[in-house]
Amino acid sequence: MADSKVENVIIIGSGPAGLTAGIYSARAGLEPLVYMGSRFGGQLMLTSDVENYPGFRDPVLGPDLMEQMRAQAERVGTRLIQDDVVQVDLRTYPFVVKTLQEERRALSLIVASGANPRRLNLESEMRLMGKGVSNCAVCDGFFFRGKRLAVVGGGDTALEEATYLSQLASSVTVIHRRDALRASHALQREAFADPKLSFIWDSAITEITGDKRVDGLRVRNLKSGLESLLPFDGLFVAIGYDPNTEAFRGQLEMDANGYIVAKNETETSVRGVFVAGDVRDFRYRQAVTAAADGCKAALDVERFLKESRTEAALSR
Ligand code: NAP
Repeated sequence: MADSKVENVIIIGSGPAGLTAGIYSARAGLEPLVYMGSRFGGQLMLTSDVENYPGFRDPVLGPDLMEQMRAQAERVGTRLIQDDVVQVDLRTYPFVVKTLQEERRALSLIVASGANPRRLNLESEMRLMGKGVSNCAVCDGFFFRGKRLAVVGGGDTALEEATYLSQLASSVTVIHRRDALRASHALQREAFADPKLSFIWDSAITEITGDKRVDGLRVRNLKSGLESLLPFDGLFVAIGYDPNTEAFRGQLEMDANGYIVAKNETETSVRGVFVAGDVRDFRYRQAVTAAADGCKAALDVERFLKESRTEAALSR
């Protein structure tokens, strides 16, 4: 074991939720330890201009915003370790957290490990990410006012993104691989009634074209095999998310999609384990809501540790 000392709180994840939890718990004197994962910063590291995080008059680059958060967390005393959590044992107490490099014990945990948007896995998708390709309409829709947009996917997220974007764009085309949507009927009704929204069915995107920015999509009809090149200024990929919950499977209650179930704001099914950010929240998925969640989880940890100390004192 790297350190036989039992940590007050271990925070798993270094996006806005994890780092905010670090800032709050460090300032409460809990000496938190954050496992940042092998890649620090979460989804904002893949974002260019951020205009909706309060406190910045001018747009701030996603990676710059995360660097500021990290420096702030360190300044107030959060310990940050670049390492991946691979296993936890929540059946023993103090909890055991194993990473690629070490093993530590903790009186409480905050799981803020985020969710990764699914990718189309096209080379052009990563090359043009932030240059016309996006995963978040609320974050980036503003930059596409009056433009021709495409959304790929047929679930709730795709239709929510499409109806949001249609308020800003000149047109929105939903491209779906089947001829039936998976989204709720309410969202389908709204989408079908939207005059700016149209659908391309039974089709897959085979290439996103454009040199410096997206200028079109190569789309193949999966039934006829016919391929066409269509002009678009942007593509929103909305084919679902994979929450990073592998290490907690079978130990924390999760929903059918693998998101950790939170009750009473940040509590999980195991007392002393709290959850914050996109790993539990598929609805808002914003940096500011994740940060707020991190704050709540840290305050809840503080209360939990105080209660545990009182219980221990009374049982003596
Ligand atoms: P989802 O329900 O898994 O839908 C993903 C969609 O993307 C499906 O239509 C799927 O096609 C398509 N897709 C998946 N992989 C693809 C690929 N490689 N290429 C092209 N298309 C692909 O994901 P979601 O919409 O993000 O929703 C996730 C969960 O969050 C759901 O339970 C949803 O109800 C919930 N949610 C709720 C709300 C709300 O209540 N307001 C909002 C957002 C999400 P197929 O249909 O052919 O499988």
